[in-house]
Amino acid sequence: MKIHLMRTPLPWRTEQATECGMLAHKVKIVQAKDFTGGQRCSICRSTVKNEGPNALLHQMQAAIGRGLQSYRILKRPTKGGGLKEYRRRVNDPILFELKALADLVVRHREEFEKLVAANESEQAIQGAGAG
Ligand SMILES: [Zn+2]
Repeated sequence: MKIHLMRTPLPWRTEQATECGMLAHKVKIVQAKDFTGGQRCSICRSTVKNEGPNALLHQMQAAIGRGLQSYRILKRPTKGGGLKEYRRRVNDPILFELKALADLVVRHREEFEKLVAANESEQAIQGAGAG
């Protein structure tokens, strides 16, 4: 049985998923420190962990990017000992979530703009400190 890594959840999601997009309760999940050996899921293995100050932003960007893909390209072993690529359809709720976020923005425009401005000034402060 393959082992997988937990995906950092998007703040608006309650359902847990793995880095490769599986529902967390349906597969075996291990901590990053235990993610070793030949049974590692290849997609989870290829995921780059970002632990820097903008980790949440990078993880959200990656999660949204993955969610917008309609399929993923995976590889499976062939009888001849090679690898064959195949496509797996992805059913990700990201488009419905983005529509809901847009609806929330329309209903709470002033609060949204204040939060965006606060995030931008926080980013500017972090950027100034890093330079
Ligand atoms: Zn996986």
